[in-house]
Amino acid sequence: MTERAVVIAGGGPTGLMLAGELALAGVDVAVVERRANHDLVGSRAGGLHARTIEVLDQRGIADRFLREGQVARVAWFSGITLEISDFPTRHNYVLALWQAHIERILDGWVGERAVPVYRGIEVTIFAQDAAGVDVGLSNGQSLRAKYLVGCDGGRSLIRKAAGIEFPGSDPTTSNLIAEVELSEEPPWGIRRDALGIHSLSRLEVGRRVRVLVTEQRVGHTTEPTLRDLSEALIVVYGSDFGVHSPSSISRFTDATRQAASYRNGRVLLAGDAAHVHPPDGGQGLQAGVQDAVNLGWKLAQVVKGTSPESLLDTYQAERQPVAARVLRNATASVALRRADERTKALRDMMAEFLGMDEPRKRLAAEMSNLGIHYDLGQGHPLLGRRMPDLDLVTPNGQLRVFTLLHEARPVLLNLGEPGGFDITPWADRVQLIDAKYAGTWELPAIGAVTAPTAVLIRPDGYVAWVVGDLTRAGLADALTTWFGPPAAA
Ligand SMILES: Cc1cc2nc3c(=O)[nH]c(=O)nc-3n(C[C@H](O)[C@H](O)[C@H](O)COP(=O)(O)OP(=O)(O)OC[C@H]3O[C@@H](n4cnc5c(N)ncnc54)[C@H](O)[C@@H]3O)c2cc1C
Repeated sequence: MTERAVVIAGGGPTGLMLAGELALAGVDVAVVERRANHDLVGSRAGGLHARTIEVLDQRGIADRFLREGQVARVAWFSGITLEISDFPTRHNYVLALWQAHIERILDGWVGERAVPVYRGIEVTIFAQDAAGVDVGLSNGQSLRAKYLVGCDGGRSLIRKAAGIEFPGSDPTTSNLIAEVELSEEPPWGIRRDALGIHSLSRLEVGRRVRVLVTEQRVGHTTEPTLRDLSEALIVVYGSDFGVHSPSSISRFTDATRQAASYRNGRVLLAGDAAHVHPPDGGQGLQAGVQDAVNLGWKLAQVVKGTSPESLLDTYQAERQPVAARVLRNATASVALRRADERTKALRDMMAEFLGMDEPRKRLAAEMSNLGIHYDLGQGHPLLGRRMPDLDLVTPNGQLRVFTLLHEARPVLLNLGEPGGFDITPWADRVQLIDAKYAGTWELPAIGAVTAPTAVLIRPDGYVAWVVGDLTRAGLADALTTWFGPPAAA
């Protein structure tokens, strides 16, 4: 039986990002992925929101995605566009890029760190004891790990076998999404009617067509077929346009569910395994990748014995409320896309409301995930929020904040008197950087904030401690809470 520190079930975007984060921290990790390659059923996510691009930038890999994607200057909510180009970030846009490409690029990054990805194999069973988890595989072999993370999607076997409840709401709408060919020219574009939203669009290459159609009834229990698609098209358009040659047909609903707990002992959940919701607003992949970036460094520290196991509790405490907001926003978005006269009137009002600066900025900060605020207590507005990617001047020249995070190591950034801090007992874990920054401090949706004199930045780019005056109160506590007790002198 091969021993690993961490085994990840599922090599979708969440599992791959987590594998990269753990490998970066020097943890011995392996991924088990059911699919033999990157082919997906359906095209799924269509791009990256601003904060996801930022977290990739924090690891120095954003360019790989930017080279292949296309920049769009707006986010959206239930078809209402939300301008984000005035947000104070280098990535004040949405990047259009299909999920298969996102996964391929992430896989390339993970591959550079020599993480074993066992493809074409499923996790079929596991059993945990006080010291670790035995993970049974579909090829008859097994792995032993200190921790098992279920990144195995909405129908997660890991979640079910761990006995973690998945409460939420049942579907009220059902949609088919497919890539097909049509023999007849259809009416291209988006159509709304009493049933819901439908669209027909040409794919980038060849004669293939992407179809989105709302079905007449919910509650299907079998996998969708070409016949289901044909019938749904006829109900909406009066014709199926000679639909044929599907390369994919999948079904999604507006069901929302969230894991009651993100951890049971040595088993954790991340991504769709922990939360599912309709794709409105394009949030699922972002939430999964950011779950991984929140969990990765914490799990690494626990595995290495730098931090106590209780650090893992902060993963759920921080990420569960974020996903709950995603579920709420997606539910509201689905409600607003109904096509009856009353809902149309409500959507028009929302559009007017979101045309105003303050509401637009607030919702756009949520949809772009730039407004995420982990509750780390009272204090400076930066506390628990993302650290902006400032251009710093250091004794070694100019440097971006995100460059300091490439290796996923925490940073104490001293913007006051050089040499003003001594963190020797944490020097093996935390970088201490003296720097100057002359510009203004501005946060998305919040605006200008008082310039701090020092900030403690976690590997995921969130601020764990801020000081705006000469006192150093709480620094030792913050260092201990997040990065473990001081090393013995
Ligand atoms: C139509 C549609 C459109 C979407 N659009 C967007 C969008 O625009 N933006 C956005 O952010 N999100 C979007 N999403 C959501 C996004 O696709 C998911 O949130 C995202 O894929 C979640 O990633 P994940 O890695 O957590 O799970 P998954 O992508 O589901 O990956 C789970 C992986 O685990 C593997 N697996 C499952 N069981 C096992 C097992 N027992 N053993 C080993 N491997 C296993 C699977 O093969 C899979 O590769 C969309 C989804 C759909 C359906």
